[in-house]
Amino acid sequence: MTDLPYQIAAALRKSRSVFIACHVAPDGDCLGSALALQLALARIGRTAQVGSADGVPEPFRVLPGAGRVLTAPPAPPADVAVAVECSTVDRAGTFAQALLDAATLINIDHHVSNAGYGHLVYWDTSAAAVGEQVADVVAALRVPIDREIAECLLTAVVTDTGSFRYRNTTARSLRLAAELVDAGASVHQIVERVYETRSAGNLRLLGLALAGLTLTADGRIVWTQITPQMLTSAGAMPDDVTGIVGMLRQIRGVRIALLFEVTPQGVRVGIRSREGARSHVIAEAFGGGGHQEAAGFTASGALDTVIAATLAAAEKELQRAAQPSPPSRP
Ligand code: 5GP
Ligand code: MN
Repeated sequence: MTDLPYQIAAALRKSRSVFIACHVAPDGDCLGSALALQLALARIGRTAQVGSADGVPEPFRVLPGAGRVLTAPPAPPADVAVAVECSTVDRAGTFAQALLDAATLINIDHHVSNAGYGHLVYWDTSAAAVGEQVADVVAALRVPIDREIAECLLTAVVTDTGSFRYRNTTARSLRLAAELVDAGASVHQIVERVYETRSAGNLRLLGLALAGLTLTADGRIVWTQITPQMLTSAGAMPDDVTGIVGMLRQIRGVRIALLFEVTPQGVRVGIRSREGARSHVIAEAFGGGGHQEAAGFTASGALDTVIAATLAAAEKELQRAAQPSPPSRP
């Protein structure tokens, strides 16, 4: 473990109040990690509040503390703020200012793209989930992992590794998962909640999105779109879009999958890739970010224009990925 978890633990121990921010459109990793940290701080008598500008998606509402997650910034500002996997402060949405207002800002992230802001930056792209990093902070706080903390952290690890199926899964992820299961958390229960429980609207939307898919670049790129009309006719909620782009990537021969969703904030683009094609490079070209195999961005502009520009960037990335890599220096 690096020294950073200890430095972060020291700052948190000295704090009077802590604010923990999730990124917009929060996932299980972000929420599970934020709630685990809140619980660990409560165990040592520190008050922490968790904020999520977009609230808590349904599968995560059962997590301990989920019902108290703030959707509007705290007043007065906390003296220590923690940004959980926000590659820039803006990723916290309406909570960005609350992060900047804190006397000490802690940035914990595992995304390839992180701007390095804050007073303490714990950035570890080798972590499969930011939950692995938060587990190190909990250990540095000397808080034993109890069943509640374990449930939150296992939700983080299970969701960001796609139930231990993605390439990012390491021995570290599996060792931590074993420790969390020993502490009383259940992989089965989390998988059941997150992947095996859907509304009918969710499946109808999936059907519409899959029926409308287009293959391009000799079958190496696949894309589809989701419009507000599709949500209405499927009887689906915006959260129901989660998971669709990952399914597109399953098509044989596909290296880049793109999902274009028309939202009130603009066109949200979800990207998944494999076999060396880099999702984050495509996303960064449009001001977004993420990981090698999963990234995203939101663009203003007409849907057709965003689709054309993203497809062009994806093709460029495929050409780059087809080049032999430069010889490594000794
Ligand atoms: P998803 O498609 O599941 O929303 O996001 C995939 C990955 O890309 C996640 O790790 C998420 O944090 C990251 N991501 C998605 N949208 C954005 C964005 O607009 N900006 C940045 N920096 N990262 C994003
Ligand atoms: Mn994550």
